[in-house]
Amino acid sequence: MPIRRLPPETVNRIAAGEVVERPASAIKELVENALDAGAARVEVQADGGGLNRILVADDGKGISAEELPIAIERHATSKLEPDDAGDVDLLRISTLGFRGEALPSIGSVARLTIASRARAAADAFAVTVEGGAAAPVRPAAFPGPHGTRVEVRDLFYATPARLKFMKSERAEAMAISEEIRRQAMAHEATAFTLELDGRTALRLPAERPGPEGRLKRLAAILGREFEHNALLIDQTRDGVRLSGYAGLPTYSRGNAAHQYLFVNGRPVKDRLLQGALRGAYADFLARDRHPAAVLFLDLDPLYVDVNVHPAKAEVRFRDPQLVRGLIVGGLRHALAAAGHRASTTVAAEALAGFTAHEGVGRGAWGVAEARPDAGGWSGWTGWSAPDAAAQTLPGLNDRSARVETLDPHAPRPTSHAPSEIDLPLGAARAQLHGTYIVAQTRDGLVVVDQHAAHERLVYERMKAQMAAGAVARQALLSPEVVELDPAEADRVVARADELAQLGLVIEPFGPGAVLVRETPALLGETDVQGLIRDIADDLAEHGAALALSERLGEVCGTMACHGSVRAGRVLSAPEMNALLRQMEATPHSGQCNHGRPTYVELKLADLEKLFGRR
Ligand code: ADP
Ligand code: MG
Repeated sequence: MPIRRLPPETVNRIAAGEVVERPASAIKELVENALDAGAARVEVQADGGGLNRILVADDGKGISAEELPIAIERHATSKLEPDDAGDVDLLRISTLGFRGEALPSIGSVARLTIASRARAAADAFAVTVEGGAAAPVRPAAFPGPHGTRVEVRDLFYATPARLKFMKSERAEAMAISEEIRRQAMAHEATAFTLELDGRTALRLPAERPGPEGRLKRLAAILGREFEHNALLIDQTRDGVRLSGYAGLPTYSRGNAAHQYLFVNGRPVKDRLLQGALRGAYADFLARDRHPAAVLFLDLDPLYVDVNVHPAKAEVRFRDPQLVRGLIVGGLRHALAAAGHRASTTVAAEALAGFTAHEGVGRGAWGVAEARPDAGGWSGWTGWSAPDAAAQTLPGLNDRSARVETLDPHAPRPTSHAPSEIDLPLGAARAQLHGTYIVAQTRDGLVVVDQHAAHERLVYERMKAQMAAGAVARQALLSPEVVELDPAEADRVVARADELAQLGLVIEPFGPGAVLVRETPALLGETDVQGLIRDIADDLAEHGAALALSERLGEVCGTMACHGSVRAGRVLSAPEMNALLRQMEATPHSGQCNHGRPTYVELKLADLEKLFGRR
């Protein structure tokens, strides 16, 4: 065969093979044209995965009637200007397009219609190209003062071989959506909408140009999670600026899909940049974890070659080491500065992992419900209280046996309770700050607020005992005298009968003092002085308006504050375990009288997640 010049349609189709690989790449070219035209809003519609119909509409500067036929010519562009000698400088490209290939390529493989009203032009015009054949320019209707609407029907109808390679409509639609998201990240001041088969898939309002607007745009695209876990990056070195947002290491992902890199506003997939990103996080992330990041490199066009690939997805840097160093250094710097924040995020995750329960004691675990007679304290006595006299659990209410501090020589409670760890609230392991009991369960750990829990238990148990007739009392070894002022003492003595119903037996003891003989058994070791003084204050404040039994919650709260398990008191191991067992047996013990949780639970699986073991 002789050597022949190929006909223009064939040349265009060959070019189209590279430039318009799939519907999403046609859309990429058309959106880039809209952005180059200065559009403030870009609207995209795609039907049938973009294979049936694509529409890209913008409010940019438009194309005049005279230029419409040239726009669809091959290698015709308004974006490169020859100098006086007629030479074009390919080293200073500041637009997204420059090759003059997109429109003729699309026109050669589809039915393309461009309608446009140029800025300040009275009329709008349109031109159509079908399978490479252009029709003359004609007047057209155009909504809006200026802008361009490009419609592409039956993409690849003229190249059936290419059509066969298309993935499902769904896959093409997803690629389109991804393409719009990418472009929208780099142009936060431009509004974008995307409709897929008539349904709105994306609606991104214009944001203020700058980092804040950009973060809003990124949050709209990547989710609020990204916004809350991203660090602002802004570093400049030798005229190269790195900006954008990088995710905290704790916000890493299972793949690199959440990495978006832009060079001079152009989305790129670049090995060098991806490698630098990995390098920056190397100390913080496991090999199979990937950071989330949206990074923008801006540099003099002289130092980057964007003319490497027809779809312009790859770039070459004149000084790759500078770029790599900037990315690694800039990100490490930001991550180091955020060390504290990273740990806050972990703490927040930990808190999210802890779950507060209110199911305790409702029999949810098959644990005995509190019985009014025995009270919750001994509601579950499978492993303790062998004799009936031990109505109270060892250590908790028995003042002679009480243990003020953890005694290393004392018999370990777990030794006679081997199965505690299998109980819902587990085996007590430690007490922290005189306030929190840490218990180990079979599959996690539990932290109990001892005071909140005890207050609730006192309340529930007192209610149960009152319903059963009387609150169990416990005689003090020697009656205690509490000094008050005479008016206070009178008020307390006046309520002696009510107090006796609640398990507190008092007598007048001359002017300005009361004698306390018995206290509610369920309080255990009681700070009698403090309790009586608080009750006196309480009566002074509330007067005689309500019977104490009607304010049981408050009264119990006051009592619990002076009982054996009050906040700040060191508990022995048996006391802690007794509290846990009673919580299990008491209804509603998962929350205190104020609705706050009395304990939180963290499963091993959550712990493992926190430490990246899962
Ligand atoms: P390139 O973008 O590389 O210049 P194209 O084939 O994509 O090549 O477009 C050819 C020309 O048509 C552009 O240079 C531009 O002048 C004009 N053009 C294309 N789309 C638009 C648009 N949406 N708004 C204004 N002008 C456009
Ligand atoms: Mg273009």
